[in-house]
Amino acid sequence: MNSDDWWKGGRADAMLDIVAERFTPRRWRLLGTACLRRRWDLLPEGELRAAVEEIEANAEAPSASFAANRRKSIARALPDLVAQATADTESLVRGAAMDAVAEPNPNAPALPLFLAAGRYAASAEAQAGRPVELAAAAVLALLDEPGRDATLRAAQGIEDALAARVACARAVSTALRLKQQGDELADSAASAKNKRIELAKAEEIVRRTQEQDDNRLLDADGADRAARKAIARFLHELVGDPFSDYRFEAAWRTETVTNLARAIEAERAFDRMPILADALLDADCDSEAILRHLRGTEKHTTEKAVHTRGCWVLDRILRPDDPLFGSTPKPKRKKKSG
Ligand SMILES: [Zn+2]
Repeated sequence: MNSDDWWKGGRADAMLDIVAERFTPRRWRLLGTACLRRRWDLLPEGELRAAVEEIEANAEAPSASFAANRRKSIARALPDLVAQATADTESLVRGAAMDAVAEPNPNAPALPLFLAAGRYAASAEAQAGRPVELAAAAVLALLDEPGRDATLRAAQGIEDALAARVACARAVSTALRLKQQGDELADSAASAKNKRIELAKAEEIVRRTQEQDDNRLLDADGADRAARKAIARFLHELVGDPFSDYRFEAAWRTETVTNLARAIEAERAFDRMPILADALLDADCDSEAILRHLRGTEKHTTEKAVHTRGCWVLDRILRPDDPLFGSTPKPKRKKKSG
């Protein structure tokens, strides 16, 4: 792997190999919380979000009882969160449930559509709690011993949660669509001469719907790919370029610079990063790579800058002794340093 491969970000595992040894528990935790924050809407308000915020705020040295307490409170909160998700979905599909069909007539051509709508509605309800359970598992992973394994489980868990939510939402929309098509067919079949043709139409719609579902199952490793992409993305943010000996002179750490960096980190006020660039310029900082990162105009990547706690520039200002900034790995092809 060289600098170009690193910025392409296609091989998260190889990227982790390069930096893993120099990652502190704090940085592993922050890589994990960054992946979870990226899917913030998958974490219901309350316990799970609070846990992520606390893991992040205490990433350096959480107290001994912290993980145990958080595990307990998540276990306590989870049944209600699952029940809430199930109730929300139930209200969405209520109209498509079988008991919503008035006098289901076994000879009605639309019956296969109503039956299928009912099956999808039941399936949506049955899986409604799954995204929350998977999101909770992702948060719990970050309460385990920090390291590569826990971080990967968190990153994977939240992408699995997303896949589960998409599957549930699809079941909801399929249920509602089939119910609507059933209603339409019931109307048109009322005046149709040949009820068997109408019945065949209904059966064909159900068959095609099932076929589409089967095709989607073939892409089951999508969540795994998404998790690795997220890891690669945040490695760029947490490390910068591991093949580059970024120069950072002590004189650039003026009071203005450090105060600003500390405030940005504490308040997650990453919109102030360009102001930090100006402050560094005032301190005679001439590192193009650092200034570009803060201004979101990096050269090696077209990714929109998404800063997180643990941002490599903030850490160079605030934590110059972090092992990440020690010796750099031997590159196969070295890029110009910033
Ligand atoms: Zn950053």
